[in-house]
Amino acid sequence: MIVIVTGGSRGIGSSIVERLCADGVGVLFTHSGSDEEAAELAGRVGPLAHPVRLDVAGDDAPGRLFDLAESLGDVTGLVNNAGVTSRIGPLTALRDEELRRVVDVNLVAPLRLCREAARRWADRPSKAGKSDRSIVTVSSVAARTGSPGEYVAYAATKAAVETMTVGLAKELAPGVRVNAVSPGTIETSIHARAGEPGRAWRVAERIPMGRPGKPEEIAEAVAWLLSDKASYVTGAVLNVAGGL
Ligand code: NAD
Repeated sequence: MIVIVTGGSRGIGSSIVERLCADGVGVLFTHSGSDEEAAELAGRVGPLAHPVRLDVAGDDAPGRLFDLAESLGDVTGLVNNAGVTSRIGPLTALRDEELRRVVDVNLVAPLRLCREAARRWADRPSKAGKSDRSIVTVSSVAARTGSPGEYVAYAATKAAVETMTVGLAKELAPGVRVNAVSPGTIETSIHARAGEPGRAWRVAERIPMGRPGKPEEIAEAVAWLLSDKASYVTGAVLNVAGGL
């Protein structure tokens, strides 16, 4: 049993890899960061974790990724976790290439990966009313707040993947369950990459629970949605956001 996790080398993705491997699930994870970072995670987690350096927005990414995963075993899940923000700031400050990159990584890549999964899984027999394959996409509560002044383009891509989740859940039922997890503000290095390392705690006063979330709190929800324990859950967008 193999699950593909995009963006698995750090932050939320690495917690998802660790959580799934702890349950005995084999994971093929992509990353675009340093090979050392990915190798360190694979070394820590053990032989169930398989890293691959691959840009999810690359033309050949879906085919390459599923070919590799299928060479490892029966692919039962896909987690669309890889995501990027633009620099913090208003939409007017964004250059075309920055805007396109956010859309390509956060929206076009998950759409193409879901399409690849649906095509590859189309001929798998599934018993009536039972799904044995599952897709989980990591969205953001920004889909509903809109992130004015910070990440409007990013927020728009997250709203789109939530709509993708609702539509695909109906299109692929009963064989494949399709859900999303919508994190609030989580302590990862994504904020430093956007230009403000301390952002997670700066916005904490807006979070009813008074603190940012931890990557492992998102991983727990992703693992549950992927598993048979969520056997009747499809088309759901689960907020894991401390009340935000
Ligand atoms: P992160 O920057 O810590 O990690 C991102 C991971 O994605 C890394 O492994 C990186 O190598 C990989 N990645 C980035 N671009 C890639 C590409 N083009 N191809 C392949 N891999 C790529 O980010 P994070 O905070 O862990 O975010 C993970 C997901 O959670 C993203 O989709 C993000 O939008 C979402 N999210 C994060 C927060 C937060 O506050 N951290 C909040 C809501 C949603």
